[in-house]
Amino acid sequence: MAENSSFPQMPGCTLGGNGVSPGIAIGRAFLLDRAKLKPRGEKIASDQVVLEVERFMLAVASARDELEEIKKKTINSDSSEAVNQHNYIFDVHLLMLKDKMLIENTVTLIREKKINAEWALSLNSEKIIDFFKNMQDAYLRERQSDVAHVSELILRHLSKGEYDSIEKISRGVIIVAHDLSPADTLQLDPGQVKAFVTDLGGRTSHTAIVARSIEIPAVVGAEHATEKINGGDRLIVDGIEGKILVNPSREQLVAYQEKKKQYNTFQAKLLLNRDLPAETTDGFRVALAGNIETPEETESVISHGAANIGLYRTEFLYLNRNTLPSEEEHFLTYKKVIESLPPESAATIRTFDLGADKIAESERFREDSINPALGLRGIRLCLNHLEIFETQIRGILRASHYGKLKIMLPMISGLKEMRQANRIIAESKAALERDGIPFDHEIPVGIMIEVPSAAVISDLLAREADFFSIGTNDLIQYTLALDRSNEHVAYLYEPLHPAILRLLNQIITNARAAEIPVSICGEMAGEPLYTLILLGLGLDKLSMNAISIPHVKQIIRQSTFVAARQMLEKSLEMETAAEVEAFVGKEMSQRFPKTFLMKI
Ligand code: PEP
Ligand code: MG
Repeated sequence: MAENSSFPQMPGCTLGGNGVSPGIAIGRAFLLDRAKLKPRGEKIASDQVVLEVERFMLAVASARDELEEIKKKTINSDSSEAVNQHNYIFDVHLLMLKDKMLIENTVTLIREKKINAEWALSLNSEKIIDFFKNMQDAYLRERQSDVAHVSELILRHLSKGEYDSIEKISRGVIIVAHDLSPADTLQLDPGQVKAFVTDLGGRTSHTAIVARSIEIPAVVGAEHATEKINGGDRLIVDGIEGKILVNPSREQLVAYQEKKKQYNTFQAKLLLNRDLPAETTDGFRVALAGNIETPEETESVISHGAANIGLYRTEFLYLNRNTLPSEEEHFLTYKKVIESLPPESAATIRTFDLGADKIAESERFREDSINPALGLRGIRLCLNHLEIFETQIRGILRASHYGKLKIMLPMISGLKEMRQANRIIAESKAALERDGIPFDHEIPVGIMIEVPSAAVISDLLAREADFFSIGTNDLIQYTLALDRSNEHVAYLYEPLHPAILRLLNQIITNARAAEIPVSICGEMAGEPLYTLILLGLGLDKLSMNAISIPHVKQIIRQSTFVAARQMLEKSLEMETAAEVEAFVGKEMSQRFPKTFLMKI
């Protein structure tokens, strides 16, 4: 196998991507996309030899486990003559996995030639195969195919790590995948997965959002990570700066262990603010709320200092399953959320926003579209599947009897959709009343402002909505015409673009004029770099993932509304996103030196 010069040489190879979930993780790579991986030859540095031998021996051990497992299964299921034959072959292969000529000589090649395990194994097995090929004895000649099979098995384990599916992950690893869906990400166990890295993905993709919610450091859009990282490689994932260090040097390890410690101490200190209000030193108060994808996240949001749930993305109830949730399931889920909140707290339940990158297994939601973000998603899907929408609405209404709930409609693009949805809510209320089922008759119904048309006519919508919540993830996606899940256009994601600032200002001014509350629940709300700009806009509430709450609160508590307003006014006069970014970046790093001002 020839050395492939297009691949970086170990060690010290650093890959870049979008750091979308903060934190530092150090661990071994677990490659999910083994089908995409081809073994390749690489030179390694002297200080990588020990690690490489370890990686090779791990692959040999897991190949042995796999063979033992298959052998056990075959014995249990059949005891015929044919099975005995198979077992004999398994035994031969198992012996080969301990064979000096195959294993020890490969290790010697790694050490002496300073090449990676894949290359050493291929060189060695080719030599052994040649040796058997020239045997006179037919039986011995045939052994060449066993050598090839066993080498292939080890190669497979070298490239995939020890596992091949998310559910099988059973110890602390760093996942490296071509892509992870939001549904896959939700299944990750933070106790087992230290971090993840994907080739694809944009800054505000739902995969990134879920990573923040479950507090797993992540770098997405690291374009060729699955080609450049081998299963078992040691990695440092810096989710703050969007970096992946592959087989780092000792110095890099020490530096990142220190950075990890500093980051954790910084986060722990911030949590001391937990029970204090998000109020500026000149008395301007903003409500901080949490975004959740599952009821279980409520506890984390509260422990990070939020009193309310500003956005429950209920579409996650529909993912990772083949059936639709029943009215009873909706009811019990929302009741559980409200019951895990303090007594005076409220939860804003967004009706399901399936479609685009969140696809339910149920065939009814499948959409063959080359442009799903502009297809049947959000309220459009609800209004096209009325029975599913009504089931959810009845569940929310019934739960509203047990605490303060609000209904929020996603992806509203005009008055017609809002009125249609309101009619269904009114009909569901009337039906419950007829059946004598209690619910909150005054339950507020608000809308997400995340489609540019809704922003433009926000004065009209404000007359009929009980509140607005601005979904900056989609508002930016649709206004700047960039796919939020596409890493190639991630550089165009500019929350401080003059068009976005003007739109935000316009929506908030219209909400104020109509005297309805207005909040932001897009990822921008949880980004400390933007906190003063958003404060200056005079929002009532910012809703974000749990981990962002303490930092945003600290910035608010150390600032004045007057300064925030001045920063906004200056920004609104600027002509380009770059100009505003430079101005805000400078101001923020002067005001808050030595903090982790991560940009999402
Ligand atoms: C948004 O678009 O900003 C939002 C909060 O909704 P989602 O991210 O679920 O699309
Ligand atoms: Mg949205």
